[in-house]
Amino acid sequence: MLSFFEKTFPHGVHPPTHKSKTQAKPVRRLPFAPELVLPLSQHFGKASTSLVHAGQEVVRGEPLAKADGFMSVPLHAPATGTVDRIELMRTARGPKTEAIVLKVHPGAAQEVLYDLPQEISKMTQEELVDAVQETGMVGLGGASFPTHVKMRVPEEHQVDTVLVNGCECEPYLTTDHRVMLEQPDDLLAGIRIAMRTVGAKKAVIGVEDNKLDAVKEIRAVLPQDDSISIQTVPTKYPQGAEKMLTKAILNREVPSGGFPSAIGVSVFNVATLAELGRLLPHSRGLIERVVTVTGPGVKKPGNYLVALGTPIRFVMEYAGFNGGAGQLILGGPMMGQTAASLDVPITKGIGGILVMTEEDASKRPHTVHPCIKCSSCVKACPIQLNPSYLGMLAHKREYTVMADKFNLFDCFECGSCSFVCPSGIPLVQYFRIAKAVLKN
Ligand code: SF4
Ligand code: SF4
Repeated sequence: MLSFFEKTFPHGVHPPTHKSKTQAKPVRRLPFAPELVLPLSQHFGKASTSLVHAGQEVVRGEPLAKADGFMSVPLHAPATGTVDRIELMRTARGPKTEAIVLKVHPGAAQEVLYDLPQEISKMTQEELVDAVQETGMVGLGGASFPTHVKMRVPEEHQVDTVLVNGCECEPYLTTDHRVMLEQPDDLLAGIRIAMRTVGAKKAVIGVEDNKLDAVKEIRAVLPQDDSISIQTVPTKYPQGAEKMLTKAILNREVPSGGFPSAIGVSVFNVATLAELGRLLPHSRGLIERVVTVTGPGVKKPGNYLVALGTPIRFVMEYAGFNGGAGQLILGGPMMGQTAASLDVPITKGIGGILVMTEEDASKRPHTVHPCIKCSSCVKACPIQLNPSYLGMLAHKREYTVMADKFNLFDCFECGSCSFVCPSGIPLVQYFRIAKAVLKN
């Protein structure tokens, strides 16, 4: 039972956390795969534009593609090698997309050769936002929204607080947990960059109370002036969602269809800011990320630092798995999606691979029974939608009614409703389909 004073949000669910297999495992770097596949579109917004051609030699860290406008980010070479070809390749997002295929030089060094120190303390707000864009940074929590876009606050909004999301409420995943434990100084550097770009005087780091070791590590490096503080929140799903964290820590409500900046808040994920804090002073680009590989079907669960573009098949061989793609969920069990193939690459937004046993995987999809009107989904939905009614409308393909009268687009697909439904109704999948139909 939560105490009256605990900082949290209404509703939500308590799935088993399953983090013990990897939470104490330090991040380990994976070797390079012989070939890396780098989609030009691995972020929200416009694809980047290639700067290279087949046969070109590139060094680790060198820009391979430039941003195509403000809602786009560049792409950098994760390894030293030769551009083999640029062609349509399959990605975890589904449809084929143009990608640069890089043949890694045998024995290529892990050292980043492209490095240009810059004095970020002397940069103006605008210059800082531009420099962040040049890193190719996107939200590493899964949304892959370009970070520099979040940092340019609309003129009509004024941000007073940067909220830093260290909740990692998805079961099984421990990427953010390890980053907080292993890179507290980088995180602080990234928070200061975020505060300057959005013009906030204050930052609060929200961490769930099942990661108290990370809280201790971060507390030790916090400044004395209270400008940056840390706040524990109860372990509850989806505590790490932007709206839920803002409500829990600041008791402010993000308006329906609006952005947190409208209520004076900018929200960033811990891994995003820690990586930014590491890269920006050296004008480096995002070329690798931490991926939790875990679950009952893998022999060597762990937190691996993986070069972008590494085929999932390569990661899985290293982690001790020889099953099929149907056993893999990219992301966590609540919001992740089944892998389409083992040959899709790790991209900027993939923070976890959950490996089911063959037996578990074959049990999906569940048998679906009729709705028994138990209202469990209504009690679980953190934004107080009526998933049961939305599900019924989805069944009848009344998608426009769902959007116009029942706020379908407020649903951020957390999966809490599907998780509690005793009838096994795949509510969140219905909502994803409805949104996709309406957007096309
Ligand atoms: S998936 Fe959507 S409808 Fe279901 S609980 Fe989450 S926000 Fe509510
Ligand atoms: S949880 Fe499932 S069975 Fe219960 S009301 Fe919601 S849709 Fe119906």
